[in-house]
Amino acid sequence: MKFSITSKGDRKSEDIKKRIIQYLEDFELEYDKEEPDLAISVGGDGTFLEAFHTYSDRLERTAFIGVHTGHLGFYADWVPDEVEKLVIEIAKNPYQIIEYPLLEIQIHPKNGGEIDRYLALNEGSVKTAEGSVVLDVNIKGEHFERFRGDGLCISTPSGSTAYNKALGGGIIHPSLETIQVTEMASINNRVFRTVGSPLILPKHHVCELIPIHDDRSFLITVDHITKTYTDVRSIECSVSDKKIRFARFRSFPFWKRVHDSFISDER
Ligand code: NAP
Repeated sequence: MKFSITSKGDRKSEDIKKRIIQYLEDFELEYDKEEPDLAISVGGDGTFLEAFHTYSDRLERTAFIGVHTGHLGFYADWVPDEVEKLVIEIAKNPYQIIEYPLLEIQIHPKNGGEIDRYLALNEGSVKTAEGSVVLDVNIKGEHFERFRGDGLCISTPSGSTAYNKALGGGIIHPSLETIQVTEMASINNRVFRTVGSPLILPKHHVCELIPIHDDRSFLITVDHITKTYTDVRSIECSVSDKKIRFARFRSFPFWKRVHDSFISDER
């Protein structure tokens, strides 16, 4: 089996990376940055997002696992003290695969040029540095509302505990193939009106965002990546047909991770 390691880059993460490489090579596993069967991230959830985007074009051939060197992560859920145990599990035991849904984002340009396509593990968001974001929101081809405000966030179930949660969105179990649309400071008065609640869409409901002002540029984020776009005709968001595959060696239920991260890690 071939493996890769994405490290946060700090001393602790680099030390653990070196140890894991050495142990796994002792077990005659091959370190391969280009085509790993198993991508290991060492750092936090941010590092895990980086690993995901490094290998997002080979999701059916790469499984992921995360070791956290700071606080408990949602994706990085092995602690440094467990590294030896994890290495033996990887080398000796077949792992179970757990799949989580992803968000697909398509950015259609005005001039009919090439569509930019992204996969997000946490979320995509649309913001602007130029006043308010003004967008028509279509759901499944039907006009739903005209949004005015700071922006919109469209998250995956596993991303629901990240930016989405800070925006008042609900926490969604990753066994549900959905995306969630949350508002950022919408303008609501007698003239402008939005639904004001997070929307949870099923797999077959595409959410299309159509900019109203021709001259406005957008900051579009995909997980930890931010890009500026001008001349956007529409942004299409939907549940992707692709999924992330986690290598699972032990049970760590989603709601336990939510509890330990946000309530208390004491029993
Ligand atoms: P960052 O601003 O350095 O860190 C964002 C925080 O979100 C980190 O504490 C990170 O955990 C945590 N996080 C990432 N994914 C998570 C998840 N699925 N559930 C719970 N917490 C999660 O940015 P970054 O490290 O590059 O990560 C990018 C992510 O930041 C975006 O995908 C977005 O979700 C999040 N974000 C959050 C807010 C907010 O909460 N107000 C605003 C903007 C962006 P670690 O410390 O373990 O890395």
